[in-house]
This record gives sequence, structure tokens and C-alpha cells, in this order.
Amino acid sequence: MSDQTLGFDTLAVHAGTEPDPATGARQVPIYQTTSYVFRDADHAAKLFNLEEVGYIYSRLTNPTVSALANRVVALEGGAGGIACSSGHAAQIMALFPLMGPGCNIVSSSRLYGGTITQFSQTIRRFGWSATFVDTDDLDAVEAAIDENTRALFCETIANPGGYVTDLPAMARIAERAGIPLIVDNTTATPWLCRPIDHGATLVVHSATKYLTGNGTVTGGVVVDSGKFDWTASDKFPSLSQPEPAYHGLNFSALGPMAFTFHSIAIGLRDLGMTMNPQGAHYTLMGIETLGLRMERHVKNAKAVAEWLEKDPRIEAVTYAGLPSSPWYERAKTITPKGAGALFTVSVKGGYDACVKLVDSLKLLSHVANLGDTRSLIIHPASTTHRQLDEAQQIEAGAAPNVVRISIGIEDVEDIIADLDQALTTATA
Ligand SMILES: *Cc1c(COP(=O)(O)O)cnc(C)c1O
Repeated sequence: MSDQTLGFDTLAVHAGTEPDPATGARQVPIYQTTSYVFRDADHAAKLFNLEEVGYIYSRLTNPTVSALANRVVALEGGAGGIACSSGHAAQIMALFPLMGPGCNIVSSSRLYGGTITQFSQTIRRFGWSATFVDTDDLDAVEAAIDENTRALFCETIANPGGYVTDLPAMARIAERAGIPLIVDNTTATPWLCRPIDHGATLVVHSATKYLTGNGTVTGGVVVDSGKFDWTASDKFPSLSQPEPAYHGLNFSALGPMAFTFHSIAIGLRDLGMTMNPQGAHYTLMGIETLGLRMERHVKNAKAVAEWLEKDPRIEAVTYAGLPSSPWYERAKTITPKGAGALFTVSVKGGYDACVKLVDSLKLLSHVANLGDTRSLIIHPASTTHRQLDEAQQIEAGAAPNVVRISIGIEDVEDIIADLDQALTTATA
């Protein structure tokens, strides 16, 4: 069965797995084991030399976790990849083989809030840094890249503003600079967009969101296109030259699997940000229905956004699926099946009305999560963005009068009815 000829929903159900060779079990078993018995000493030595591929220890690889990684690789159209313990872990794992002290990344300024903190503060402890730019200013993106830049980073659909990135333009700039483009595809999912088709080298996911889909697992995935030539310059010595951390192995000898094997043999081995088999199992189950869910998420989001935009209690809705959005035309080419299911709403009555709104909702939950089957809401100014002053909040798209909504897969009439009653209370 060639994975390349199968459709998205078939891959979502089957890719990365086959009936269990030991028992015939049809569903992917949860291999709840840390280690694997070697056939003999020679087999063990070959595994440690990467001369033979197999399981050694579950910090590196585990059959359930590999099934998950391979399924997401198939959906994203990549060559290889790894699953790890969270979306934030996936971002570090994506950067790790590329970076060294003194290296930097150029990143979109429109990012998940946690990523802004990870890139602006925490990675500096490793001697890495990030320069943030407006990715709609292509000259500024190009100008921010210097000789120490090792990647360009952006999100397909950036929350909270529903901003859609011009991925082909980012890919062209990265290619001219001889660096990989890394795309966080969490909010789009491969059902709406496959960044590798637009020229991305690496795709990262928070599997915590739509991939698992029901708010049960914290997880992440990194997918490599396998197309980047790490040997074209001396910028990526870990991948193009003998690697002292793995007895001098030159990972570029592994061709399109260089990045993936490096991530397993060194990244997971030494950083240990490993996904657990139970979590991988839940995420695999979630992915089986990804296409069905995304179709409903997008349909509901569009209906709710259209209803809100016409409502006199609302000032504005930022959703790239609405013609009023500056990203409407771009979304048609980058995410042709819809602009996702996440958007912000400015409510008349400001901060106080927003607080009353989140407190008056009965169906929508007030939580710091997105991409759940359940509809979710958060008021950033009183929660995730409360440390910022008002100017910074406005800059981040999280003004005091803004709420962020992640539309679920419930009956859309019920979502609208709940918003309607809560808006009545909030703006009374
Ligand atoms: C949630 C999220 C992350 C971080 O993922 P975790 O699984 O929470 O670590 C990164 N990027 C985006 C776009 C997210 O929504």
C-alpha cells in the first residue's frame, strides 16, 4: 500500500500502523514498556551504531509513539519526524539540530503567547536568540536575517488575530538565505494546510490541540520534509559534519532521514522531551477523525463569526474566513478549505463586558486551551496577557475589549444561543 496515493482521511485512519505483528491486534497497542530485548550482543551493537533500525529504549523510540510520528509525517507529506512531550518541546526539538551558541532565528512577531516567551527569554539560556519581525513586511524579514541566522519561524494561522502567513513568500526568503523555514501548523492542521507543499522544511505541532482534539493529551510533533540540503553550507555542522555527540557519525549520510535520526539519537536521547505511549495512543485515536472534525470546526466557526459580525453588541470579528478580514484573499490560497476555527471578537462595553461575558456563558468553557471538540473562550487581558500594559495588550491583539473563541463541533445553533444569552447579560 503506497501511502502517497491514499487520501487524507484514509491516511488519518491507517498511516503509520499495521496490524500488530505479534498479536494481530487491529488497533495500535499501547506498548507500555521502557526497553526491548536484544536478539544477541551483535544485534544490540548494530542498533547502537544505527546500522540497523530497531527499538532500544523508550526515551528514544517506542512503537506506539513511532506510529503517531509516522502518521503525522504522512499527513504532512514529510520524510520523517518525531513525537515529543508538548508543542513547546517540539519547537526546541526542531531548533536543536540547527542551532549553537551565538545562533539566532528570525521569527514572525505574530505567535502563540507561550512561544513569544520561549523565543524571547528562555532560549537565550542556550546562547540562542530570536529577532521578531512583521512577516507581511518581506523586506524587514530579509533584512533581519544575518550570517548567524539558522531558521525562519512562523505559524500558518497565528492566533489570536486569525492572521494567515504568506508561506510561499517565507519559503522563498528562507531559500535565498540558505536556511530552513519552520512552520507551526497547530491551528491549521494538515487538513487545512500542508506547509511542506508551500516550501517549508520543518513543521511543528502542538498535538495538544486539534490533532488529539479533545483536551486529553499534552504532546508535540516535528515533521521534516527531508528536502533541505544540510551540506550546502557550513551552517549546520551537527547535520553535515562528524557529530562528536554520536561518536563522529555524519548524519548527512542518512540522506532525507538525517534530521529525524539526529532528533532521535541525540535530541531525544539527551534532552529527553519524549512522548509517552499512552498519550500517543490517545492522539492516534484523535487523528482518526481529524478530517471530520476540522470540516465541522470550520463550518461552525464561519457561521458563528458571520453571526457575531452582524450583531450590534459586537465591534469587530477578526476571522480570515470573513470578507472583512485583510487575510481573506490569502486564506483562500494558503488554507483553501477554511480559515480555521479560532478568532477574536471585540465586545462593546470593554473589559467589564468581556469579564461578564465569560462568566455568563454556560456551554462555552472559559479555559486556556484551543482546538477542543468543545467550544472554548478566554479573555486574554484578564488572563494570559494580564502582565502586559494596555499598549502591549493592543499590540498583541489582546486589547481589554477582546475575547478569543475556539469554536467546537457542537450544534452551531447551541453555540450561537449561548453566546447570545451571555452577550445580553454582558452588555445590559
Ligand atoms: C498550544 C500551542 C503551542 C504550545 O503547545 P503545548 O502543547 O501547549 O506545549 C505552540 N504553538 C501553538 C500555535 C499553540 O497553540
